[in-house]
Amino acid sequence: MLNIDLHCHSNASDGTLPPDEVVRRAAANGVDFLALTDHDTLTGLPAAAVAAEEAGIGWVSGVEISIEWNGVQVHIVGLDFDPDDPALNAGLARIRSGRIERARRMGKALAQAGIEDAFEGAMRYAEHPELISRAHFARYLVEKGICRDTRRVFNAYLVPGKPGYVDHRWAGLEETLEWIHAAGGIAVIAHPGRYPFSSVALQQFLDAFKMLGGEGIEVISGGHTREHVERFTRLTTYYALTASRGSDFHGPGQSYVDLGALDPLPEGLPPVWSLFSDPPAER
Ligand code: AMP
Ligand code: MN
Ligand code: MN
Ligand code: MN
Repeated sequence: MLNIDLHCHSNASDGTLPPDEVVRRAAANGVDFLALTDHDTLTGLPAAAVAAEEAGIGWVSGVEISIEWNGVQVHIVGLDFDPDDPALNAGLARIRSGRIERARRMGKALAQAGIEDAFEGAMRYAEHPELISRAHFARYLVEKGICRDTRRVFNAYLVPGKPGYVDHRWAGLEETLEWIHAAGGIAVIAHPGRYPFSSVALQQFLDAFKMLGGEGIEVISGGHTREHVERFTRLTTYYALTASRGSDFHGPGQSYVDLGALDPLPEGLPPVWSLFSDPPAER
């Protein structure tokens, strides 16, 4: 069976390894087919493509787009699109703009909570300042000894209602699906188990995603429990969507699951990769 990973990050956004190293690590761990899906940027894709060809593994273009739906921050993974598409690139540029300003405000908010120099500290972790992320702040707060790990930093400081959380204007669901589809790509709901939706809100979100032509749900995700897998298997079938599989790897020691180490897709679910223009096949 093919080992396929359609969700991971490099230091083009908030991962810790350069794109080519992510690909080499994936190949070394037995991944046959990969999509690098950095947040709101395509800058890692050319290097990832070269490395995938050198390593002899398959790949498609990928991106993880930050959107807001009914007040909740949701991530949509785009796959197998044209990376030169102008509307997609313009949309991503619009989402990126404002991240630095948000980070400055986060720095001020954290200073009021007694944590100095967080903006400067987080920026040191960001390879590309315009992709400054809460994940970079989390690494700095761990470095300062304020929390033991990044998950604890998020829970105590970086989620809505906590002192370092600052709102941001992300993209909308409809425009995001338009950008992905106009660029010839496929849209997948990233790590659906992560969102603070009530079951009614989740259903409304899935209704909207389906109505707008969304194609897939990440059933197997590095952050999912067995209950999540069962629940999203049922929902994938109910909505007649396809299933995706992605680790959400951010670097060694940064994620729940390493590249190559995910469970297989549950039996009987149509895989999202069957929709690719050149679907991966057993060699
Ligand atoms: P941002 O795009 O700046 O809002 O940051 C979101 C990123 O923070 C995500 O892509 C994850 O890498 C990370 N993240 C979000 N929630 C958590 C969490 N609870 N624990 C650890 N990392 C998280
Ligand atoms: Mn991330
Ligand atoms: Mn995400
Ligand atoms: Mn991700």
